Amino acid sequence: MGRIRVLEAHVVNQIAAGEVIERPASVLKELVENALDAGAHRVDVGVEDGGRAVVEVADDGWGMDAEDLAHALLPHATSKVASVEDLLHIGSLGFRGEALASIGSVARVRITSRLRDAEDGWTVEADVGRVGPVTPAAASPGTVVRVEGLFATVPARRKFLRTASTELGHIAALMGRFAIAFPEVVFRLRQGERTVLETSRGQDRRARIGTIHGDDLAASLIHVEGDEGPDLHLEGWVGPPAVHRGDGRLEQVFLSGRPVRDRSVAHALRQAYADLLPPGGRRPVAFLFLTCDPGRVDVNVHPAKAEVRWRDQGAVHRLVRQTLRTALEGAAPGVEIAPGPSGARPSTVEAVEFAFTHGVGGSGGGGVVAERAVSTCGLRYVGQTLGTYLVFEGPDEIVLVDQHALHERILFEEIAERLRQKGALEVQRLLVPVVVRLGPAEVALLDEVRELLGSLGWVVESFGDRGEVAVQGMPAVLRHPEVERTLAEVLEGLARGTREGLDRASLVKDALDSLACHAAVRGGDVLDSEEALALLERAEALDHAHSCPHGRPTRLTLTRRRIEGWFHRTV
Ligand code: ADP
Ligand code: MG
Repeated sequence: MGRIRVLEAHVVNQIAAGEVIERPASVLKELVENALDAGAHRVDVGVEDGGRAVVEVADDGWGMDAEDLAHALLPHATSKVASVEDLLHIGSLGFRGEALASIGSVARVRITSRLRDAEDGWTVEADVGRVGPVTPAAASPGTVVRVEGLFATVPARRKFLRTASTELGHIAALMGRFAIAFPEVVFRLRQGERTVLETSRGQDRRARIGTIHGDDLAASLIHVEGDEGPDLHLEGWVGPPAVHRGDGRLEQVFLSGRPVRDRSVAHALRQAYADLLPPGGRRPVAFLFLTCDPGRVDVNVHPAKAEVRWRDQGAVHRLVRQTLRTALEGAAPGVEIAPGPSGARPSTVEAVEFAFTHGVGGSGGGGVVAERAVSTCGLRYVGQTLGTYLVFEGPDEIVLVDQHALHERILFEEIAERLRQKGALEVQRLLVPVVVRLGPAEVALLDEVRELLGSLGWVVESFGDRGEVAVQGMPAVLRHPEVERTLAEVLEGLARGTREGLDRASLVKDALDSLACHAAVRGGDVLDSEEALALLERAEALDHAHSCPHGRPTRLTLTRRRIEGWFHRTV
């Protein structure tokens, strides 16, 4: 007997499912796309156990009749394309006719549907590949698809699922993207009784971004718009250079509503922000919406439809880079300079000269050079320049210190030491709790990391069901009481770390980074000579004072020899 045999249909489907369905969020993606393709105005999602037990999507779209239901779960059954020609002009999100069959081969699926203008509804079930008969059922207009026990019979796959809160985090992030892509549709996500995300009707794109990622962030974004040729259009909401993140989750690209990952867009985005963001891998915030003639792009190159192929990649790259660059150059404030003595805003050069000759940096002139104080290591403090750098001078060198980076490093080491000794950071109880709105992914994670947050000095309680939490206490080390931003950043880091499977020690390190960063003096804060020297002296007691926790250098030394070289004084 030969070795080669033709696989049975359900095995083929399970292999196909492996390409499309990786986790509960991928099930959800396919179901929501179907709802949107069916013209839904409202998409209601309910999950149990992070989607591992149940994912249910209810829509008010045009629905299906008994005949459609009989076909919906079959492989290669679609109402969206009929010919190869159609593939070149895809206007819908789905088109492969594969999703429902794939899901039905690795889970239990029940679809209940009623055409918008029909009297009765119908239902059909598939249980790991076996599709049952279509029977009459009570239903409201639209469609409900319920998926239970994902991968229950495929243990090899099931074991790759992460904890319920991690999976819920993926689901929430995905729903956030849909909500931003389709502002005209109302989305709701619930887990059990708890509402994780809810949007309202009549929001524009900026308002939607605000609902999902916070109104402050949304308000800071710059609106950009541009065209390349007659049928390629870009509209975007992008962060000014001062707004950035530790990862690329808020670099979101949509092509005609479809969330896509695209290398040329990502590259263009990087170039647009290249010299504007601080070093150390900081990433911009950008929500980019591309629309084009369907003939310009092939969306059928990725099983989960997450990537596309452009006919003219260069045009897309040009459009994104130039539109953003122009807007950002218009918005970038350049180097922030405190007003000079006359109160007028001086040019950069004037400000530098003024700071050097007068030894001041901030508006209040909290500078030095009255007495010249000397640090224990023999460096004399000269003054603060550009509002951010402390200038010290030794017998044969000038030392420039980034005050924020150095303070951050000092605090990081000090906080880490306290945590090592005491097991937990001191809590500053708040007289009046601060209510903070968190993103859906952060809310989803809250229960899992509450104990860890507690050891870092945060006392946080869920409150309300729209992502609000009440902060009752915060780490006592925080100098700037920016509760909201700091907590959000700490949680963002924890969410990312948890997703990447980092161990507890690495999670704690990331969280301490954020605390140190928010507790440290900022660029622009005025330091007097005593504070500047104290900073230098605290740093001298540390092992790692040469770089900040993010790996940025904290100081730069210009030697006399180097300076002499510049002025051709060397003999
Ligand atoms: P595709 O979306 O690629 O066509 P699917 O397997 O996702 O393939 O869906 C198969 C078909 O079932 C769709 O083409 C559509 O006709 C129908 N369908 C699926 N979900 C819905 C829904 N929520 N409302 C109306 N029709 C639906
Ligand atoms: Mg589909």
